[in-house]
Amino acid sequence: MNALRTPLDILRQTYGYDAFRGQQGAVIDAAMAGRDALVLMPTGAGKSVCYQIPMIARPGVGIVISPLIALMQDQVDALREQGVAADFLNSSLPPEHQRAVLERLREQRTQLLYIAPERLLQPRTLEELSTCRIALIAIDEAHCVSQWGHDFRQDYLGLGILAEHFPGVPRMALTATADERTREEIVERLHLDDPARFVASFDRPNIRYRVTPKLDPRRQIEHFLLSHDGEAGIIYCMSRKKVEATAEWLTTTGRTALPYHAGLPAEMRSAHQKRFLRDEGVIMVATIAFGMGIDKPDVRFVVHLDLPKSIESYYQETGRAGRDGLPAETLLLFGLQDVVRLRQMVDESESDETRKQEERRKLDALLGWCEITRCRRRALLSYFGEQPDADCGNCDICLEPPETFDATVAAQKLLSCVFRTGQRFGAAHVIDVLRGSDTDKISQHGHNQLSTFGIGGELDVKGWRSVLRQLLVQGYVEADASRFGALVLTPRARPLLRGDEKLVLRRDAFAPKGTKSARSRAGGIDRNIPEEDRSLWDALRECRRQLASAAGVPPYVIFHDSTLLEMLRQRPGSRTELLGLTGVGQAKLERFGDAFLEVILTGQAPVPDGDEDPGDP
Ligand code: ADP
Ligand code: ZN
Repeated sequence: MNALRTPLDILRQTYGYDAFRGQQGAVIDAAMAGRDALVLMPTGAGKSVCYQIPMIARPGVGIVISPLIALMQDQVDALREQGVAADFLNSSLPPEHQRAVLERLREQRTQLLYIAPERLLQPRTLEELSTCRIALIAIDEAHCVSQWGHDFRQDYLGLGILAEHFPGVPRMALTATADERTREEIVERLHLDDPARFVASFDRPNIRYRVTPKLDPRRQIEHFLLSHDGEAGIIYCMSRKKVEATAEWLTTTGRTALPYHAGLPAEMRSAHQKRFLRDEGVIMVATIAFGMGIDKPDVRFVVHLDLPKSIESYYQETGRAGRDGLPAETLLLFGLQDVVRLRQMVDESESDETRKQEERRKLDALLGWCEITRCRRRALLSYFGEQPDADCGNCDICLEPPETFDATVAAQKLLSCVFRTGQRFGAAHVIDVLRGSDTDKISQHGHNQLSTFGIGGELDVKGWRSVLRQLLVQGYVEADASRFGALVLTPRARPLLRGDEKLVLRRDAFAPKGTKSARSRAGGIDRNIPEEDRSLWDALRECRRQLASAAGVPPYVIFHDSTLLEMLRQRPGSRTELLGLTGVGQAKLERFGDAFLEVILTGQAPVPDGDEDPGDP
């Protein structure tokens, strides 16, 4: 490798990509010119290339600061497969390995060094690095400096000193989550010097958004998973207990599902994470403790079994799907219970009043988004300050427009029933009264004597819960946490009760819409392989699996699904043709090219040696 390659040469030869994507070229130009930069790009946009290429192109070693030490090994492995001299330093590395890393650094044999912030800030590391020529310092997950954000790391605050320690070395801060305020915080706390700013569109067009009322979660999940057979995905749950129960249940349905939450022993967590990355088709069932920085490109779906905290968290969590740009699908289930419980959690949290208000505002924005009846992507993007000018065609609302109905009378009935029962009861009882049920509680309180008893025959229980949920979200009624979720009218209810206001609500679809046409277009790369290509597809995947297991890396480090798909479609017959595919660079061509060419030629996967990855029992 000579030092005179241009960034575009490197992109083509080392990464096997034809052209820069979006603002990558501009970001790289700024770094090449020695300028500080702030880079905001959604997950999957290709941030790594933005700092890796200038690090390879500029003289000296590139320093990548990342809080995610569990992932450094994989990142370094992937770079090495591409022929880049990469290393990492963190506390997980045995001392003799650390010495070897430093040795290579001194001998100027390292192109890229990943390092954990706490390790970097140790005086001896700083001293060591001050004798090196440094090409660029990249600060990944830069939003971790923000004390407002949910990923705050104390160590990140110390990174401001890099400005004085390494004068003249350009620094690049990168993140996938940062609102206006966080952006300014990053610039200020990291002491970036008049940085070039790059803010990419946050749209992830390959991700399909689906939001559905939670009715029978397990049946809904099963239905959803029908179109994601054998694919990797994440299912988020709110509690540890639910994580475990859900993983267990999925296992009994014959799937590979692993639990992940902060209460599990560290070794188990890291073993599960490793299997998720290395094996194909693993479902991770997790609390939000899982996922930051996971850059597995082929996560095909993300399900939320419970509501996330805010639109920001939702966007970040779903953003883990489809980083490779191939179709991915998300599903969020939400119900009356979630609305009540999350509001309660905010009310009872330890936060001070200002913070609580902020949390309430964010939760309400999320709830409102769940209930909307227009294109979800447009609404999401406009929440982040973008104004797309067309509906997306790739969300549940665009694909299966919901029905709405005039709910004025139903809402009046429900609200007056809340009022007549004394604003002391929760959803279940109020609905029982409306429907004229015969329960002990009703006779005990004499509620069968009320004028609202039995006036709600037009809807079933699900129907009433749906109306109530929407009334809660829109603020006509509140659930009082201090009185076990007793429903209480708000001032907004008055004009509606008086008949001065009309109310249109969405009619929830209670049976999953299983229409074949809608489902078959969804996700399911594997299912969309034409029948005549199936055996070659399987052979290509098997070849990749064997190479990955021999090299001890995840399959996607060998080639992404998108590259295998190109092989399938274009059937390259020579090394030159193979090099023309996206994701095939010089180093990978040398190492793996012939194996894949042979598979394409013969249509057969290589015969396994039998010496498979001994790690997993
Ligand atoms: P981020 O860190 O922004 O989430 P990554 O750096 O992991 O994203 O890149 C996402 C995916 O896009 C990776 O699989 C990467 O190899 C691929 N990629 C990046 N840049 C390009 C490009 N110019 N052309 C094609 N694929 C690219
Ligand atoms: Zn849409």
